[in-house]
Amino acid sequence: MSATLTSTLAAGTVAQTNVDANLREAPDLHARVLAVLPRGTAVRAEPSSLAAWRKVSAITTGQRGYVFAALLDPGAPPVTNQAVTAQSPLIAPARGTLAEVQDALNSRQHGLYSAQDIRFIARVYFESAVPAGLDPVIAIAQARLETGNFSSVLSQAPIHNFAGIGADDSAPQNARKFPTVIAGVRAHVGRLLAYAVAAGAEKSAQKTLVQDALAAKALPSHLRGSAAQVSGLSAWASAPTYVDDLCRVASQLADRVDPQTPPAGPRIITARSLGLSFQVLFGELGRETYVTGHYSAGTRARNADEGRDRVLGFQDDHRNKGYGGVAYHYVICDDGTLICARPTLYKGAHTKLHNTSNIGVNMPGDLGDRPTAAQAATLRWLLANAHTDRMPAPHRTDADLRLAERSGHRQWRDNNTDCPGDFLGVFLSGGEARLAPAHDDDVGFLEAAAQPDNGRWQGEIYVDGEFLSKQEAADARQPSSVEAVVPPADPRFDSD
Ligand SMILES: [Zn+2]
Repeated sequence: MSATLTSTLAAGTVAQTNVDANLREAPDLHARVLAVLPRGTAVRAEPSSLAAWRKVSAITTGQRGYVFAALLDPGAPPVTNQAVTAQSPLIAPARGTLAEVQDALNSRQHGLYSAQDIRFIARVYFESAVPAGLDPVIAIAQARLETGNFSSVLSQAPIHNFAGIGADDSAPQNARKFPTVIAGVRAHVGRLLAYAVAAGAEKSAQKTLVQDALAAKALPSHLRGSAAQVSGLSAWASAPTYVDDLCRVASQLADRVDPQTPPAGPRIITARSLGLSFQVLFGELGRETYVTGHYSAGTRARNADEGRDRVLGFQDDHRNKGYGGVAYHYVICDDGTLICARPTLYKGAHTKLHNTSNIGVNMPGDLGDRPTAAQAATLRWLLANAHTDRMPAPHRTDADLRLAERSGHRQWRDNNTDCPGDFLGVFLSGGEARLAPAHDDDVGFLEAAAQPDNGRWQGEIYVDGEFLSKQEAADARQPSSVEAVVPPADPRFDSD
């Protein structure tokens, strides 16, 4: 959605947050969080000379503060997320965000198109319709209705006809063919514009689209400008319920997750179910202030079975290093399975010098690997739900992790590592399946409060003495003498 992570955003420009973004008191990763702006929140940019930060005011609340620039989509109109009715105008701002629509389309099967193809198609709709003033959600809803969520033969290559243009039930062979996805989308958007805007009244951004679309198939003059509202599209197809169906599908596409009814979460596997145990060597975690993302510098975990194998491997490896068990609190597999590893009561051992109050999340993989959409969705879910009873009790956090500082392992000072490779972007954004920024300077380094001086090194990990009694610290020097404990049960989630 945002082409570059450090965007330019002129004063007065309206943008929207592309993830749940922290609004901060000052342009600093450590500045106080004033509010969380949910994904899709419209903000107005204020004059600023900063590269990575934008001073903004939220349009609906007027609240002012700083947002990391990479979390804003410049030029995007405010998202209204209204239900679409027969009276809704076609010429209108987008009624949903691109990410919402992409997720909705990918939640159903989509023929031979890959999930990435579908994301691309949706993006082309937004990029074609928004500059011409047309609500892309209505166009995409129509395509979903006409093509069975992009699974019909006509919608696939080599035809790329997303709106039944030229086809009717008795003569599907008359369907127009378009050489590319882009040509097919533009023909559809242009035809909708021809319905929405009277001949001669087109704005310059609409003219070429309309001309090209009508060159592919003419539109009878009585239909030009006949559909300022959705109701006018009854002439597009013969089905008597067409407009009602279109309104329903468009409303669904733009539907936000209702905060009262949280979405079904990922598959969750507990440490107890996997037979993991932990020696308490480093004391308690403390209130969760940081979430640090890692990869494994090893093989991916495509599903729960492979995830279990990786996590059991971590257990051996990390115990040998003197960490008392799996260093990370959570591991997320490619298919979105969430494995709860180290209980959140215990400090982890994943970031040199900085484990107090720091939640460690691992997506197994190596340099060059990238997050899947399912992994991103689970991270997003985890950040929003880790403190709720939707999580197993031993793996629940005290703090709402959406308010925690997100970073990648290599952004911590004194941690000389590539970790988490191209998974950095997904962690920084809080669950968008995006690539890492080109340079770490884009996001700066994190530096926690100075370490208390009563600590000690245990292998690669500095045990900082916070939340660790003298007796525990003494015992921990001989990990073999410390008994391993199995996390407490939560029968709703354990399968042992
Ligand atoms: Zn790491």
